Amino acid sequence: MSGSRCGQWVGHADFTAKLCNDCGFGSRENDCAVCGNWVGSTETLGVLCGDCGFGSKGDECSQCSSWVGSFEARAKLCNDCGFGTRGEECCRLKP
Ligand SMILES: [Zn+2]
Ligand SMILES: [Zn+2]
Ligand SMILES: [Zn+2]
Repeated sequence: MSGSRCGQWVGHADFTAKLCNDCGFGSRENDCAVCGNWVGSTETLGVLCGDCGFGSKGDECSQCSSWVGSFEARAKLCNDCGFGTRGEECCRLKP
């Protein structure tokens, strides 16, 4: 996994972090959107800040910026990356 998360505090923006067909296909859907670890039974969903989720940007994959289209798998976070206030940080990866 390359790049780092945007990390901005999401606040009340709370946009859904989505995955494209490539990044969310099969078991990859259960990889943490930030660090790539196995998510397991945690059900913390990734969110986007106002900058990353606004308008058509909200329909881009939070991992690779591809167009999500109708796929719309949700990005998930592992226990480490989604714990406490970290779960309220934008999970979009910077290229
Ligand atoms: Zn993680
Ligand atoms: Zn962001
Ligand atoms: Zn993708």
